[in-house]
Amino acid sequence: MKATDSFSDLLHPLLSEKELNEITQLIHDSHNILICAHRGPDGDAVGSSLAWANYLQKIGKQVSLVMPNPFPDFLRWMPGIQLISFYDKNEQKATQIINQADLIFCLDFNAISRLQDMGKAIAQAKAKRVILDHHLDPDYSMADFVVSRPKMSSTSEVVFRLIHQLGGFPAMDKAGASVIYTGMMTDTGGFTYNSNDPEIFVIISLLLTKGIDKDKIYRNVNNNYSEHRIRFTGYVLNEKLRFLADGKASLFTITREEMERYHFIRGDAEGLVNMPLQVKGMRLSISLREDTEKDVIRVSLRSVDDFPCNKVAEQFFNGGGHLNASGGELPFPIEEAVKTAEKAIAAFKHLL
Ligand code: 5GP
Ligand code: MN
Repeated sequence: MKATDSFSDLLHPLLSEKELNEITQLIHDSHNILICAHRGPDGDAVGSSLAWANYLQKIGKQVSLVMPNPFPDFLRWMPGIQLISFYDKNEQKATQIINQADLIFCLDFNAISRLQDMGKAIAQAKAKRVILDHHLDPDYSMADFVVSRPKMSSTSEVVFRLIHQLGGFPAMDKAGASVIYTGMMTDTGGFTYNSNDPEIFVIISLLLTKGIDKDKIYRNVNNNYSEHRIRFTGYVLNEKLRFLADGKASLFTITREEMERYHFIRGDAEGLVNMPLQVKGMRLSISLREDTEKDVIRVSLRSVDDFPCNKVAEQFFNGGGHLNASGGELPFPIEEAVKTAEKAIAAFKHLL
């Protein structure tokens, strides 16, 4: 027996036999498969989508990938990334691809609203829809088949387990393994949160047998910024960061003017919202950023321990997410958004 076989025995199955048969049938009955993921695709959205595409192509399917808008610049190195089309860049072409699909996989999101403008095209498509995701409360009405595992670290983990259970692990190549590792790594902050399940490390061991360089993947994602971005980090932490609720909450804003001044590229805001949590006793960090494409404020929230930042996102920012990492959007100017954030922090002070 090979070492990889005995590692595999340590994984609990993702699906019941019945579910496995059902999804196998859905895949078997289709040829033109579309994979889509949420707006503002992150490492997990992109990683899980590319990994799933890699598997489906290996079993002989025609696969297209369409996302609402582009991914951050630091994901550009990911193998297969050039296969992705963007709805906001060419609506007509994207709609055509969507309408040609006979099966649609929706990865890393739980409701059509997370697709924003692209949602209508996906909702109107005649193809069956399957959700593969790890967010709470999936919208069952939007899909014919749902694999939702909110306790799992990432959609990439869900996809790994699915490929494994479908018998696709032996044929997985280094590229497929790399993108899964990227999604698991980014959604857990480099395995520093949401990653205590021992089976996560079984999966990592299995991925390493495919020859991935996990240290290089970490550097590709996290240590690949421009000089402007590191100076911008200094600026935000020194001049923009405010401490509230007796130092248990923090808030900063980023305006379009500041982004221009610091030569922003897509992804440069990533990770900043985690930094205030390095302060002892800090439980909640909120960032408010002017969107570059629409007149809205993008809100990011991060928390530690049991503080539910998803509840704050739901109640105050038209959003949601995970217990410790959530987001949302506000349709008004940044000064108003700051007032809303202050109100939110005051309303949740008893939990801080
Ligand atoms: P980020 O701060 O990185 O944009 O988002 C963190 C997490 O919050 C995402 O992984 C996603 O689960 C959730 N999230 C972000 N934006 C939204 C939103 O507009 N609506 C909902 N429901 N969840 C969001
Ligand atoms: Mn995710």
